[in-house]
Amino acid sequence: MTRPNDLLHTLRDDLEAPVAVRTFGSGWYSGFFALVAAIAGFGLVVALRWPGWFATPELEHYEQALWFRPLVHVVLIASYALALLSLLLRRRKIIGFSALAIGIAAALLGGADVSARETHDWGIFFGVDFFIVNLAATGLMFAPIERFWPHNAKQRLFRFEWREDLFYYLVSSMLVQIATYLALAPSSYINAHSDWFGTFRAAVSAQPWIVQFLEAMVITDFVQYWFHRAFHRVPFLWGFHAVHHSAQAMDWLAGARMHLVEVVLLRGVTSLPLLTFGFSPSVMQAYITMVYIYAGLVRAQSARRFGSLRARAGDAAFPPPASRHRGGSGGREFCDPLSLLGQALRHIPHAAGEMAGRIRDSAEDAAGLFAAAGLSVRE
Ligand SMILES: [Zn+2]
Repeated sequence: MTRPNDLLHTLRDDLEAPVAVRTFGSGWYSGFFALVAAIAGFGLVVALRWPGWFATPELEHYEQALWFRPLVHVVLIASYALALLSLLLRRRKIIGFSALAIGIAAALLGGADVSARETHDWGIFFGVDFFIVNLAATGLMFAPIERFWPHNAKQRLFRFEWREDLFYYLVSSMLVQIATYLALAPSSYINAHSDWFGTFRAAVSAQPWIVQFLEAMVITDFVQYWFHRAFHRVPFLWGFHAVHHSAQAMDWLAGARMHLVEVVLLRGVTSLPLLTFGFSPSVMQAYITMVYIYAGLVRAQSARRFGSLRARAGDAAFPPPASRHRGGSGGREFCDPLSLLGQALRHIPHAAGEMAGRIRDSAEDAAGLFAAAGLSVRE
């Protein structure tokens, strides 16, 4: 009798198979994409069947669209076809069978035609749909970039500790509602209790769009810098932030590795000026979209810098939690924002790298901010 644990182990083994036995034609790629499609399809069916539990309110919006259910259907069909192809091609059947089993489970739940089983709204939901959409969007955007411009040609998607990073991704997506609520609480409170601030806000939103955009960028970057610095300097905060710096391998997925307390505080604090100063909604959305794409790009590409920085600065920039290092003298990732211009003039590439690193480090999880701003803008 095979225990579920053994099955998972075998699956993981084959996903992490050496590159030599996962070449094109070996059934690995068809199996992998079958698995991705099956999980995405299954998650969407679950979200459609129990929207009160597993879907963000946005799903209702998309569900009305003509293309949505056919898309779910196509995803599920693709997963069956690819799973069968993988089963034909691959000697080890575990990936193909896993994909097939998940796809069949989705069909048994009702497939693309599933209707909602319970409509009661208990007020709390887990963002299964958000996790799928978020992962698919970032994965489709950044996995190919990493593939074609790799920092480490040997590093694959299923690299060291990929499961840990995927888990952080899952948790922060699933808890999108509560995290967003907590992160928005301070700005909502301020917005509700600061009518005297109205003239200031009106003045801010009356400025030209591009001026607002630049201001939002400078102010948010400034806040993020001090936020990040505090998390290195204050021992209590470093306890949370050490999680983020425990990543051994860097890619687009690794940025998700962040303590939930830090996620909430980061979003809450850095979005505070953005949400309370009266910037136009379109400015906020443009800025957050830019950060979202930029942070992922930098993360995907800056792994080269990550590697050399680790080698050069070692414990200084990436201290082991036990050392209780708090940034300080060796913290190369810090540069005074006010001297940035001076640095840039002297060493433009170097300063750009530093800034990119800072943005990567502190603008992680812009996806959450994205959701936060999206929610608040609509209100
Ligand atoms: Zn840090």
